[in-house]
Amino acid sequence: MIIKPKIRGFICITAHPDGCRQNVAEQIAYVQQQGVVAGAPKRVLVIGASTGYGLASRIVAAFGYQADTIGVYFERPEIDGKPASAGFYNACAFDEFAHQAGRISESINGDAFSDTIKQETIQRIQQKLGQVDLVIYSLASPRRTNPETGEVYKSVLKPVGEEFRSKTVNTDTGEVHEIVLPPANNEEIAATCKVMGGEDWERWIDQLLAAGVLAKGAQTYAYSYLGPKVTWPIYAQGTIGKAKEDLTRTAGVLNKKLEAIGGCAAISVNKAVVTQASSAIPVVPLYLSVLFKVMKQKNLHEGCIEQMYRLFASQFQQQRDELGRIRMDDRELQPDVQAEVEAIWPKITTENLKELTNYEDYTKEFLRLFGFGLDGVDYEQEVTLG
Ligand code: NAD
Repeated sequence: MIIKPKIRGFICITAHPDGCRQNVAEQIAYVQQQGVVAGAPKRVLVIGASTGYGLASRIVAAFGYQADTIGVYFERPEIDGKPASAGFYNACAFDEFAHQAGRISESINGDAFSDTIKQETIQRIQQKLGQVDLVIYSLASPRRTNPETGEVYKSVLKPVGEEFRSKTVNTDTGEVHEIVLPPANNEEIAATCKVMGGEDWERWIDQLLAAGVLAKGAQTYAYSYLGPKVTWPIYAQGTIGKAKEDLTRTAGVLNKKLEAIGGCAAISVNKAVVTQASSAIPVVPLYLSVLFKVMKQKNLHEGCIEQMYRLFASQFQQQRDELGRIRMDDRELQPDVQAEVEAIWPKITTENLKELTNYEDYTKEFLRLFGFGLDGVDYEQEVTLG
Protein backbone atom coordinates (compact mmCIF):
# COMPACT_ATOMS: atom_id res chain seq x y z
CA MET A 1 0.00 0.00 0.00
CA ILE A 2 0.97 3.65 -0.33
CA ILE A 3 1.02 5.25 3.09
CA LYS A 4 -0.01 8.88 3.47
CA PRO A 5 -0.45 10.89 6.65
CA LYS A 6 -3.93 10.75 8.14
CA ILE A 7 -4.24 13.36 10.84
CA ARG A 8 -7.00 13.17 13.44
CA GLY A 9 -6.87 16.10 15.83
CA PHE A 10 -3.44 16.16 17.45
CA ILE A 11 -2.37 12.70 16.28
CA CYS A 12 -1.45 11.12 12.96
CA ILE A 13 -3.01 7.67 12.76
CA THR A 14 -0.68 6.39 10.05
CA ALA A 15 3.10 6.05 10.10
CA HIS A 16 5.63 5.35 7.38
CA PRO A 17 8.13 2.54 8.14
CA ASP A 18 10.87 3.85 5.82
CA GLY A 19 10.39 7.40 7.07
CA CYS A 20 10.59 6.32 10.71
CA ARG A 21 13.72 4.32 9.91
CA GLN A 22 15.25 7.36 8.24
CA ASN A 23 14.34 9.50 11.25
CA VAL A 24 16.18 7.08 13.56
CA ALA A 25 19.14 6.91 11.12
CA GLU A 26 19.41 10.72 11.09
CA GLN A 27 19.43 10.88 14.89
CA ILE A 28 22.14 8.21 15.02
CA ALA A 29 24.18 10.13 12.43
CA TYR A 30 23.91 13.29 14.55
CA VAL A 31 25.25 11.45 17.60
CA GLN A 32 28.05 9.83 15.61
CA GLN A 33 29.11 13.26 14.35
CA GLN A 34 29.33 14.55 17.92
CA GLY A 35 31.55 11.68 19.02
CA VAL A 36 31.80 9.01 21.68
CA VAL A 37 31.57 10.00 25.36
CA ALA A 38 34.42 8.47 27.35
CA GLY A 39 33.90 6.75 30.70
CA ALA A 40 30.12 6.54 30.33
CA PRO A 41 27.70 3.82 31.54
CA LYS A 42 27.66 0.77 29.28
CA ARG A 43 24.36 -0.90 30.23
CA VAL A 44 21.28 1.26 29.96
CA LEU A 45 17.55 0.68 30.49
CA VAL A 46 15.18 3.18 28.86
CA ILE A 47 11.52 3.09 29.89
CA GLY A 48 9.49 4.87 27.18
CA ALA A 49 12.11 4.20 24.52
CA SER A 50 10.24 4.35 21.20
CA THR A 51 9.58 8.04 20.53
CA GLY A 52 10.52 11.54 21.68
CA TYR A 53 12.98 12.00 24.51
CA GLY A 54 13.15 8.30 25.38
CA LEU A 55 14.10 7.27 21.84
CA ALA A 56 16.71 10.04 21.68
CA SER A 57 18.09 8.90 25.06
CA ARG A 58 18.39 5.35 23.83
CA ILE A 59 20.12 6.48 20.64
CA VAL A 60 22.64 8.57 22.59
CA ALA A 61 23.22 5.70 25.01
CA ALA A 62 23.87 3.19 22.22
CA PHE A 63 25.85 5.40 19.85
CA GLY A 64 27.31 8.09 22.16
CA TYR A 65 28.04 5.85 25.15
CA GLN A 66 28.42 2.68 23.03
CA ALA A 67 26.13 1.06 25.58
CA ASP A 68 24.02 -2.05 25.36
CA THR A 69 20.39 -1.10 25.88
CA ILE A 70 17.02 -2.48 26.83
CA GLY A 71 14.06 -0.39 25.70
CA VAL A 72 10.52 -0.67 27.05
CA TYR A 73 7.61 0.93 25.18
CA PHE A 74 3.96 0.40 24.32
CA GLU A 75 3.37 0.47 20.57
CA ARG A 76 0.94 -0.96 18.03
CA PRO A 77 2.37 -3.44 15.52
CA GLU A 78 0.95 -3.78 12.01
CA ILE A 79 -2.54 -5.26 12.31
CA ASP A 80 -5.16 -6.05 9.65
CA GLY A 81 -3.21 -4.38 6.87
CA LYS A 82 -2.87 -1.15 8.83
CA PRO A 83 0.54 0.43 9.44
CA ALA A 84 2.08 0.09 12.89
CA SER A 85 2.50 3.10 15.17
CA ALA A 86 5.55 5.28 14.55
CA GLY A 87 7.18 4.14 17.79
CA PHE A 88 6.93 0.53 16.68
CA TYR A 89 8.79 1.29 13.46
CA ASN A 90 11.31 3.48 15.32
CA ALA A 91 12.08 0.70 17.79
CA CYS A 92 12.51 -1.91 15.01
CA ALA A 93 14.87 0.41 13.16
CA PHE A 94 16.80 1.15 16.34
CA ASP A 95 17.28 -2.56 17.07
CA GLU A 96 18.50 -3.13 13.52
CA PHE A 97 21.05 -0.27 13.62
CA ALA A 98 22.22 -1.13 17.13
CA HIS A 99 22.74 -4.79 16.20
CA GLN A 100 24.67 -3.74 13.08
CA ALA A 101 26.93 -1.68 15.35
CA GLY A 102 27.56 -4.73 17.52
CA ARG A 103 25.49 -3.60 20.52
CA ILE A 104 23.08 -5.70 22.51
CA SER A 105 19.65 -4.18 21.92
CA GLU A 106 16.59 -5.75 23.51
CA SER A 107 13.12 -4.34 23.12
CA ILE A 108 10.06 -5.06 25.23
CA ASN A 109 6.69 -3.95 23.88
CA GLY A 110 4.07 -3.86 26.63
CA ASP A 111 2.55 -1.86 29.46
CA ALA A 112 5.42 -0.48 31.56
CA PHE A 113 2.98 0.28 34.37
CA SER A 114 2.32 -3.43 34.85
CA ASP A 115 4.36 -5.67 37.14
CA THR A 116 4.45 -8.30 34.37
CA ILE A 117 6.49 -6.03 32.12
CA LYS A 118 8.70 -4.96 35.03
CA GLN A 119 9.46 -8.62 35.79
CA GLU A 120 10.01 -9.43 32.11
CA THR A 121 12.46 -6.53 31.94
CA ILE A 122 14.31 -7.79 35.03
CA GLN A 123 14.63 -11.25 33.49
CA ARG A 124 15.90 -9.74 30.24
CA ILE A 125 18.47 -7.68 32.15
CA GLN A 126 19.63 -10.80 33.99
CA GLN A 127 19.89 -12.81 30.78
CA LYS A 128 21.45 -10.21 28.51
CA LEU A 129 23.20 -7.55 30.58
CA GLY A 130 23.53 -8.90 34.11
CA GLN A 131 22.86 -5.47 35.59
CA VAL A 132 22.22 -1.91 34.40
CA ASP A 133 24.15 1.25 35.29
CA LEU A 134 21.62 3.80 34.10
CA VAL A 135 17.81 3.85 34.05
CA ILE A 136 15.97 6.53 32.07
CA TYR A 137 12.29 6.98 32.85
CA SER A 138 10.61 8.76 29.91
CA LEU A 139 6.99 7.67 29.88
CA ALA A 140 4.20 9.92 28.66
CA SER A 141 0.81 8.30 28.81
CA PRO A 142 -2.83 9.32 29.08
CA ARG A 143 -3.69 6.45 31.43
CA ARG A 144 -2.29 3.95 33.90
CA THR A 145 -3.70 0.79 35.42
CA ASN A 146 -2.76 0.27 39.04
CA PRO A 147 -1.07 -3.16 39.06
CA GLU A 148 -2.29 -3.89 42.59
CA THR A 149 -5.95 -2.91 42.32
CA GLY A 150 -6.69 -2.90 38.59
CA GLU A 151 -7.99 0.66 38.94
CA VAL A 152 -7.52 2.76 35.80
CA TYR A 153 -6.39 6.37 36.21
CA LYS A 154 -6.83 8.87 33.38
CA SER A 155 -4.66 11.95 33.24
CA VAL A 156 -6.13 15.28 32.18
CA LEU A 157 -4.48 18.43 30.87
CA LYS A 158 -6.29 21.17 32.74
CA PRO A 159 -5.49 24.20 34.84
CA VAL A 160 -5.76 24.02 38.62
CA GLY A 161 -7.78 26.47 40.70
CA GLU A 162 -9.31 28.65 38.02
CA GLU A 163 -10.22 28.47 34.35
CA PHE A 164 -7.57 29.35 31.80
CA ARG A 165 -8.19 31.39 28.67
CA SER A 166 -5.50 31.50 26.05
CA LYS A 167 -4.93 31.59 22.37
CA THR A 168 -4.09 28.31 20.74
CA VAL A 169 -3.78 26.97 17.21
CA ASN A 170 -6.03 24.33 15.72
CA THR A 171 -3.38 22.14 14.11
CA ASP A 172 -5.94 20.69 11.67
CA THR A 173 -6.92 24.04 10.18
CA GLY A 174 -4.15 26.47 11.19
CA GLU A 175 -6.76 28.68 12.82
CA VAL A 176 -5.66 30.70 15.85
CA HIS A 177 -8.49 30.98 18.35
CA GLU A 178 -9.22 31.33 22.02
CA ILE A 179 -9.74 28.30 24.21
CA VAL A 180 -11.25 28.24 27.64
CA LEU A 181 -10.16 25.37 29.84
CA PRO A 182 -12.13 24.71 33.01
CA PRO A 183 -10.16 23.91 36.16
CA ALA A 184 -9.64 20.28 37.11
CA ASN A 185 -11.42 18.85 40.12
CA ASN A 186 -9.51 17.12 42.91
CA GLU A 187 -10.17 13.67 41.49
CA GLU A 188 -8.69 14.67 38.12
CA ILE A 189 -5.61 16.18 39.79
CA ALA A 190 -5.08 13.00 41.82
CA ALA A 191 -5.55 10.77 38.76
CA THR A 192 -3.04 12.79 36.72
CA CYS A 193 -0.51 12.42 39.56
CA LYS A 194 -1.11 8.66 39.56
CA VAL A 195 -0.33 8.49 35.82
CA MET A 196 2.45 11.04 35.36
CA GLY A 197 3.75 11.37 38.95
CA GLY A 198 6.45 9.33 40.60
CA GLU A 199 4.58 6.25 41.86
CA ASP A 200 5.43 4.05 38.89
CA TRP A 201 9.05 5.25 38.66
CA GLU A 202 9.47 4.31 42.33
CA ARG A 203 7.86 0.92 41.69
CA TRP A 204 10.34 0.29 38.88
CA ILE A 205 13.35 1.20 41.01
CA ASP A 206 12.03 -0.82 43.98
CA GLN A 207 11.66 -3.92 41.82
CA LEU A 208 15.00 -3.44 40.03
CA LEU A 209 16.75 -2.96 43.40
CA ALA A 210 15.04 -5.97 44.96
CA ALA A 211 16.11 -8.15 42.01
CA GLY A 212 19.72 -6.95 42.34
CA VAL A 213 19.89 -5.79 38.73
CA LEU A 214 21.01 -2.23 39.50
CA ALA A 215 24.81 -2.09 39.39
CA LYS A 216 26.86 -0.39 42.08
CA GLY A 217 26.56 3.37 41.53
CA ALA A 218 23.50 3.01 39.24
CA GLN A 219 21.77 6.26 38.34
CA THR A 220 18.20 6.98 37.33
CA TYR A 221 16.72 10.07 35.70
CA ALA A 222 13.14 11.07 34.87
CA TYR A 223 12.18 13.94 32.60
CA SER A 224 10.12 16.97 33.41
CA TYR A 225 9.07 20.32 31.96
CA LEU A 226 8.46 23.73 33.48
CA GLY A 227 8.25 26.18 30.60
CA PRO A 228 7.52 29.90 30.42
CA LYS A 229 4.73 32.12 31.75
CA VAL A 230 2.45 31.69 28.71
CA THR A 231 2.07 27.97 29.41
CA TRP A 232 2.22 27.98 33.23
CA PRO A 233 -1.55 27.75 33.81
CA ILE A 234 -1.82 24.67 31.57
CA TYR A 235 1.54 23.12 32.33
CA ALA A 236 3.69 24.00 35.37
CA GLN A 237 0.73 25.11 37.49
CA GLY A 238 -1.78 22.73 35.90
CA THR A 239 -2.58 19.08 36.54
CA ILE A 240 0.52 17.88 34.70
CA GLY A 241 2.64 20.29 36.76
CA LYS A 242 1.22 18.76 39.94
CA ALA A 243 2.22 15.33 38.65
CA LYS A 244 5.71 16.61 37.87
CA GLU A 245 5.97 17.99 41.43
CA ASP A 246 5.24 14.47 42.62
CA LEU A 247 7.93 13.16 40.25
CA THR A 248 10.43 15.63 41.75
CA ARG A 249 9.50 14.51 45.27
CA THR A 250 10.02 10.90 44.16
CA ALA A 251 13.53 11.73 42.92
CA GLY A 252 14.37 12.64 46.54
CA VAL A 253 12.90 9.38 47.82
CA LEU A 254 14.79 7.33 45.23
CA ASN A 255 18.02 9.17 45.92
CA LYS A 256 17.81 7.94 49.52
CA LYS A 257 16.93 4.38 48.47
CA LEU A 258 19.81 4.26 46.01
CA GLU A 259 22.35 5.36 48.63
CA ALA A 260 22.56 1.68 49.59
CA ILE A 261 24.27 0.93 46.26
CA GLY A 262 26.06 4.27 45.93
CA GLY A 263 23.61 5.35 43.24
CA CYS A 264 21.46 8.43 42.70
CA ALA A 265 18.24 9.71 41.19
CA ALA A 266 17.35 13.10 39.70
CA ILE A 267 14.96 14.95 37.44
CA SER A 268 16.11 16.52 34.21
CA VAL A 269 13.92 19.46 33.20
CA ASN A 270 14.09 19.40 29.43
CA LYS A 271 13.13 22.02 26.87
CA ALA A 272 9.89 22.01 24.89
CA VAL A 273 10.12 19.92 21.70
CA VAL A 274 7.66 18.48 19.20
CA THR A 275 6.63 14.99 20.31
CA GLN A 276 3.39 13.05 20.30
CA ALA A 277 2.95 13.95 23.97
CA SER A 278 3.55 17.68 23.61
CA SER A 279 1.30 17.97 20.52
CA ALA A 280 -1.62 16.88 22.70
CA ILE A 281 -1.27 19.76 25.16
CA PRO A 282 -3.44 22.80 24.37
CA VAL A 283 -1.48 26.02 23.70
CA VAL A 284 1.87 24.17 23.45
CA PRO A 285 1.92 23.76 19.62
CA LEU A 286 1.44 27.52 19.22
CA TYR A 287 4.08 28.24 21.84
CA LEU A 288 6.47 25.83 20.08
CA SER A 289 5.89 27.60 16.77
CA VAL A 290 6.94 30.91 18.34
CA LEU A 291 9.81 29.33 20.27
CA PHE A 292 11.21 27.76 17.09
CA LYS A 293 11.24 31.14 15.38
CA VAL A 294 13.07 32.84 18.24
CA MET A 295 15.52 30.04 19.07
CA LYS A 296 16.39 29.39 15.43
CA GLN A 297 17.09 33.08 14.86
CA LYS A 298 19.39 33.05 17.86
CA ASN A 299 21.03 29.82 16.77
CA LEU A 300 19.88 28.12 19.98
CA HIS A 301 17.44 25.61 18.51
CA GLU A 302 17.54 22.04 19.83
CA GLY A 303 15.33 19.02 19.17
CA CYS A 304 15.17 15.81 21.22
CA ILE A 305 18.46 14.41 19.98
CA GLU A 306 20.47 17.61 20.48
CA GLN A 307 19.07 18.00 24.02
CA MET A 308 19.76 14.41 24.94
CA TYR A 309 23.27 14.46 23.51
CA ARG A 310 24.05 17.59 25.57
CA LEU A 311 22.61 15.96 28.70
CA PHE A 312 24.36 12.61 28.22
CA ALA A 313 27.66 14.12 27.04
CA SER A 314 27.91 15.99 30.35
CA GLN A 315 27.06 12.70 32.08
CA PHE A 316 24.12 14.47 33.73
CA GLN A 317 26.39 17.16 35.18
CA GLN A 318 24.54 20.16 33.72
CA GLN A 319 23.60 22.99 36.07
CA ARG A 320 21.03 22.16 38.76
CA ASP A 321 18.43 24.32 40.47
CA GLU A 322 17.58 24.70 44.17
CA LEU A 323 15.46 21.52 44.01
CA GLY A 324 18.36 19.52 42.60
CA ARG A 325 16.82 19.31 39.12
CA ILE A 326 19.10 19.33 36.09
CA ARG A 327 18.09 22.32 33.95
CA MET A 328 18.28 21.47 30.26
CA ASP A 329 15.70 24.19 29.60
CA ASP A 330 18.33 26.87 30.26
CA ARG A 331 18.38 28.12 26.65
CA GLU A 332 14.60 28.06 26.25
CA LEU A 333 14.16 30.11 29.41
CA GLN A 334 16.92 32.63 28.67
CA PRO A 335 15.44 36.09 29.40
CA ASP A 336 16.15 37.36 25.87
CA VAL A 337 14.40 34.32 24.32
CA GLN A 338 11.34 34.65 26.52
CA ALA A 339 11.18 38.44 26.06
CA GLU A 340 10.86 37.87 22.31
CA VAL A 341 8.28 35.11 22.77
CA GLU A 342 6.25 37.43 25.01
CA ALA A 343 6.49 40.25 22.47
CA ILE A 344 5.25 38.05 19.61
CA TRP A 345 2.57 36.14 21.53
CA PRO A 346 -0.18 38.83 21.81
CA LYS A 347 0.17 39.77 18.14
CA ILE A 348 -0.47 36.31 16.63
CA THR A 349 -3.61 35.88 14.54
CA THR A 350 -4.67 33.28 11.98
CA GLU A 351 -3.65 35.71 9.22
CA ASN A 352 -0.09 36.40 10.43
CA LEU A 353 0.61 32.95 11.97
CA LYS A 354 3.12 31.95 9.30
CA GLU A 355 4.87 35.29 9.32
CA LEU A 356 5.22 35.77 13.08
CA THR A 357 5.92 32.15 13.99
CA ASN A 358 7.60 29.06 12.58
CA TYR A 359 4.29 27.22 12.38
CA GLU A 360 5.35 25.60 9.10
CA ASP A 361 8.40 24.06 10.77
CA TYR A 362 6.21 22.91 13.63
CA THR A 363 3.88 21.06 11.25
CA LYS A 364 6.86 19.58 9.35
CA GLU A 365 8.37 18.30 12.60
CA PHE A 366 5.02 16.92 13.65
CA LEU A 367 4.78 14.91 10.42
CA ARG A 368 8.36 13.70 10.80
CA LEU A 369 7.36 12.09 14.10
CA PHE A 370 5.29 9.71 12.00
CA GLY A 371 7.92 9.23 9.32
CA PHE A 372 6.57 11.71 6.76
CA GLY A 373 8.54 14.41 4.95
CA LEU A 374 12.00 12.89 5.32
CA ASP A 375 14.56 13.35 2.58
CA GLY A 376 15.52 10.21 0.71
CA VAL A 377 12.25 8.38 1.29
CA ASP A 378 10.08 7.57 -1.72
CA TYR A 379 6.55 8.11 -0.47
CA GLU A 380 5.02 6.98 -3.77
CA GLN A 381 6.58 3.52 -3.36
CA GLU A 382 4.26 0.66 -2.35
CA VAL A 383 4.92 -0.53 1.19
CA THR A 384 4.33 -4.19 1.99
CA LEU A 385 2.87 -4.60 5.45
CA GLY A 386 3.52 -7.79 7.35
P1 NAD B 1 6.43 10.63 23.70
O1 NAD B 1 4.96 10.60 23.54
O2 NAD B 1 7.24 10.94 22.48
O3 NAD B 1 6.99 9.24 24.27
C1 NAD B 1 6.31 8.51 25.24
C2 NAD B 1 6.94 7.14 25.38
O4 NAD B 1 6.23 6.45 26.44
C3 NAD B 1 6.82 6.24 24.14
O5 NAD B 1 7.99 5.47 24.00
C4 NAD B 1 5.65 5.31 24.50
O6 NAD B 1 5.67 4.06 23.85
C5 NAD B 1 5.88 5.16 25.97
N1 NAD B 1 4.69 4.71 26.71
C6 NAD B 1 3.53 5.37 26.89
N2 NAD B 1 2.69 4.61 27.64
C7 NAD B 1 3.37 3.47 27.94
C8 NAD B 1 3.06 2.30 28.69
N3 NAD B 1 1.90 2.15 29.30
N4 NAD B 1 4.00 1.33 28.74
C9 NAD B 1 5.20 1.45 28.11
N5 NAD B 1 5.54 2.54 27.42
C10 NAD B 1 4.64 3.54 27.33
O7 NAD B 1 6.71 11.65 24.89
P2 NAD B 1 7.88 12.69 25.23
O8 NAD B 1 7.41 14.04 24.91
O9 NAD B 1 9.19 12.21 24.73
O10 NAD B 1 7.86 12.60 26.82
C11 NAD B 1 8.74 11.79 27.57
C12 NAD B 1 9.02 12.50 28.89
O11 NAD B 1 9.68 13.74 28.62
C13 NAD B 1 7.75 12.85 29.68
O12 NAD B 1 8.00 12.70 31.05
C14 NAD B 1 7.55 14.31 29.36
O13 NAD B 1 6.83 15.02 30.34
C15 NAD B 1 9.01 14.78 29.31
N6 NAD B 1 9.21 16.06 28.63
C16 NAD B 1 8.69 16.29 27.40
C17 NAD B 1 8.87 17.54 26.80
C18 NAD B 1 8.30 17.86 25.43
O14 NAD B 1 8.29 19.04 25.05
N7 NAD B 1 7.86 16.87 24.68
C19 NAD B 1 9.62 18.54 27.46
C20 NAD B 1 10.18 18.24 28.69
C21 NAD B 1 9.97 17.00 29.27
